[in-house]
Amino acid sequence: MVKGSGGLIYYVCRDLFYSEYQGEEHLMKAILVKEIGRFEYVDVSDPEPGPDEVLIKVDLAGLCRTDLKIIEVGHRDLVLPRIPAEEVVGTVCGIGQKAYAGMIGKRVYVYPGTSCGECRFCRSGAGNLCGSMQIMGFHRDGGFAEYVTAPVRSLIEIPDGLEFEQAVFAEPLSCCLNAIELARLKANETIVIYGAGPAGTLLSRAASTIGAKPTVVEPDERRRGLVNGCAKIPDQLFDVAIIAVGSHDAYLDAIQHLEPRGRMVVFSGLAPDVACQRIDLNRLHYLEQTITGAYGCTYRHSVRAIEWIDQGRVEVRDMISHRFPLKQLSHALDLVKKRLGMKILLYPRIVE
Ligand SMILES: [Zn+2]
Repeated sequence: MVKGSGGLIYYVCRDLFYSEYQGEEHLMKAILVKEIGRFEYVDVSDPEPGPDEVLIKVDLAGLCRTDLKIIEVGHRDLVLPRIPAEEVVGTVCGIGQKAYAGMIGKRVYVYPGTSCGECRFCRSGAGNLCGSMQIMGFHRDGGFAEYVTAPVRSLIEIPDGLEFEQAVFAEPLSCCLNAIELARLKANETIVIYGAGPAGTLLSRAASTIGAKPTVVEPDERRRGLVNGCAKIPDQLFDVAIIAVGSHDAYLDAIQHLEPRGRMVVFSGLAPDVACQRIDLNRLHYLEQTITGAYGCTYRHSVRAIEWIDQGRVEVRDMISHRFPLKQLSHALDLVKKRLGMKILLYPRIVE
């Protein structure tokens, strides 16, 4: 029965916690992407934690636009075959050989990245740019499954009183905090955010939390509700612009509305055919403006995100629009595609 590096400790704990666990090969339900363009809801073998890893019983996973992208067109960092989902919360139910047994039963948020911890990017607080970065849902299996494994150092314990449904927002919020940090946004500055989806909404709320003045531009009237957004950018200049929608027009529009010394953040990737755009470098020169990218987040952003959600500094509950069993993923993806939902949560353990 003992196989791989997980070893005896893992199995002992697993047996204690799962009376349903019997026999040699235990299968779990998962979403599996074998090739770009389609996915299957299938039985796969339970994952096994490595020596420094834990096994987590997934409570729920957040669905984000990136999951749609991964399945439909692939992603730079995707390695197939893969179980997607990088927004994951659950309960530790097994441990690898070197992991601390006291972790069993802890409710955790999984920071999705694993970096080397030693290169210059890791040491300067930009572990998301580490050359050996491994991302859950991209390089290693993610949370669209009953169980997932994760390194111990990727875990953040969810404070008592904070619900799984709130804690799962730590992943998108972390990415927003990274973007806001790169924008060097300060209190009392103005910021325009394009897109009032989950990311745009979190960006707006996080900006308010630090005392900045956000304006959200969202052409779709149904999406504007949570952020009191506007259909077009007002006729004024902004200190910061963050683009949270995959539209090249938004980028070109935003750069025209930047203050001198203004900063624009390329937060949302673009389709390859529209990613190359002409911009007036003289404008950047004379106005001393900056364009910066933002991709993902680091562990410390996730720690802060959990704190902010726990302290009520960023409200998230009102952003949940749908809850589905995992097997209804294709319906859920359809809603994301048509921009009909806000935050959609998937439950691997709910059958109907
Ligand atoms: Zn590194």
